[in-house]
Amino acid sequence: MPSDWRRALAIVAHPDDLEYGTAAAIATWVDEGREVVYTLATRGEAGIDGLHPDKAAPLREREQRASAAAVGVTAVEFLDHRDGVIEYGVALRRDLAAAIRRHRPELVITLNHRDTWDGTMWNTPDHRAVGRAAIDAAADAGNRWIFPELTEQGLEPWDGVRWTAVAASPHPTHAVAVEEGVERAVASLLEHRTYIEALTDEDPEAYCRAFMDEATTLASARFGGRRAVSFEVFTR
Ligand SMILES: [Zn+2]
Repeated sequence: MPSDWRRALAIVAHPDDLEYGTAAAIATWVDEGREVVYTLATRGEAGIDGLHPDKAAPLREREQRASAAAVGVTAVEFLDHRDGVIEYGVALRRDLAAAIRRHRPELVITLNHRDTWDGTMWNTPDHRAVGRAAIDAAADAGNRWIFPELTEQGLEPWDGVRWTAVAASPHPTHAVAVEEGVERAVASLLEHRTYIEALTDEDPEAYCRAFMDEATTLASARFGGRRAVSFEVFTR
């Protein structure tokens, strides 16, 4: 995994998208003194069946901020696209390019943009849209003439993104050792307690630990037996 960078911007669709595995890598990077910011396209308001979106939105935002804090991330922003019906297109690319210009990262992190997780399990439209738009926006952010309205708003072009790393891709190319980050990643996922309690009858902590054990050992065989989080990395 590339390591000569200082700032990363993680762009995902929903609260909890980063906590299902990627946060173990983020905890490790924050330990090394790197700066990581989260940009979420939605507040995940359509994520809990028994809870109206008006109530779910502020609750999931609170849980997301606590999750981020558990791995040392204090900057979390929400773009207020509508959960479940995010549209891939120019408007989304513009919003993500604006976020990249605001935060000026060398590394953009996003979640699986591909049609499936593993060849058979279909991915969601929101993940596909946001993942693809994040990869595109890494280039858009550097072009003065694609979204000139952003420059007029004071957001100067940022052509400094060198890599976009896609977590949970079925085609990983890179991995980062996360032994040190696993405990905090479990704590981070556990902060989505309301969501998890609605999702499963299992004890929330046991559920989070089992998930993280599986997620961080998947890449081990290709990574010298070490616990790892893998990414599909696109260079620019
Ligand atoms: Zn999601």
